[in-house]
Amino acid sequence: TSQALVPNEEEYETFQGVQPWDRLSVQISIPDSFFQRLLNGEEFTTKYERDDNYNASSNQQQYKKLILFAGNDFLALGRHPAIAKATIKAAAEHGTGPRGSPLVCGYTDYHIALESGLAQLKKKEACLLCPTGFSANMAAMVAIGSIAPLLSAGGKPTVEEKIAVFSDSLNHASIVDGLQLAKQHGGLEIFVYRHCDPIHLDALLTSCKMEKKVVVTDSLFSMDGDFAPMVELVKLRKKHGFLLVVDDAHGSFVFGKNGGGVTEEFNCQDEVDIVVGTLSKGAASIGGFIACSKIWKQFIQSRGRAFIFSAAHPVPLAAATYASLVVARNEPWRRLEVRKRIREFQALTGIPVESQVLSVIIGSKEKTWQVNRELLTSGLYVVAIGPPVANTWRLRVTLTAAHTTEDIRKLVKIISNHVKFEDMENYNPNLHVK
Ligand code: PMP
Repeated sequence: TSQALVPNEEEYETFQGVQPWDRLSVQISIPDSFFQRLLNGEEFTTKYERDDNYNASSNQQQYKKLILFAGNDFLALGRHPAIAKATIKAAAEHGTGPRGSPLVCGYTDYHIALESGLAQLKKKEACLLCPTGFSANMAAMVAIGSIAPLLSAGGKPTVEEKIAVFSDSLNHASIVDGLQLAKQHGGLEIFVYRHCDPIHLDALLTSCKMEKKVVVTDSLFSMDGDFAPMVELVKLRKKHGFLLVVDDAHGSFVFGKNGGGVTEEFNCQDEVDIVVGTLSKGAASIGGFIACSKIWKQFIQSRGRAFIFSAAHPVPLAAATYASLVVARNEPWRRLEVRKRIREFQALTGIPVESQVLSVIIGSKEKTWQVNRELLTSGLYVVAIGPPVANTWRLRVTLTAAHTTEDIRKLVKIISNHVKFEDMENYNPNLHVK
């Protein structure tokens, strides 16, 4: 049984417009030694080893001040006083540990309130909190993969009895790994369709003889920043009658009038059966969730091993996330600020970016690193990302509610020292602006 008090929303202060503490979410300081590693590309290109000479408590360490264009705190909630206050209060009252796994003794009223707040946000009957977004996808995929073995005699389904899962070729690693694991249990076959290509998906669905079908896609792709073709997917769902699973990791809290995510933005909350999300981006916290029907929730919490066999969120984190949820709802201007920044970047470059995740593809690895180094030495923290994390080399830039017009101008000016934006009409073939 729960011991925590229900979080009191009335205690949360609301603000209008970017405040000095919001700005701290993009004004960061990093140790010089780490800055050098970033400049040399060591964080991404070599085996990850901690710098043996780095001493966090040393007063000798010099720091570099940078404007962060690589984080996922899109609404700039990470320094919000109401969230900090709720976290501290919950820590003082309930301690820091998670106590145990959710099904044993880890859940409190805070967790229950958070689940019902997320279900409401996503317009679903129920919601299941998971340790991370990664584990939420693993749990959902493994649960889906366990259906056919459960239904078939002897636990060994024939090909026709298995579930056919259609997965976008650029889906997140956690979906890919979840599906691979589920496949090993013998309950599903995986069909990968070309990235955001409803025509290819339609053809694969039409030729598939298996009766039970699932389509799974990211809502907003984490490397290219493009949206899944939600309208077409909904049409195909009507035609083929599949279960539609959407990972709204980057869209939740950010898109849609109420922050309901990409599914709210494209007005298809009812047509998406299961929404997976993370709390580590728009909600400035940590954790994952699965919003769905009550039946699906019951099923996933009894079959999704990544949920069952991991600890619950510590109460202060559940309290922090609940406060984020309320603040994100009460301060809609944050979503408008993100949109303004996207439009500013579009206007300054002519690049038809779709979202707050920008992938500026400028050519070879060497050239990408050259521009990246200039950005870093000019005080802008941007990362160059390439294979195997992304399929081509690019500068991956993220925009947040706390960036200023000046920040964007500076970013664009430095990139334009090296490339002409007008030559970049096809700079990212994955963008298909609607
Ligand atoms: N899905 C997508 C599309 C993501 O981008 C991420 C985070 N990179 C995740 C899932 C995993 O979320 P988390 O960080 O909460 O594990």
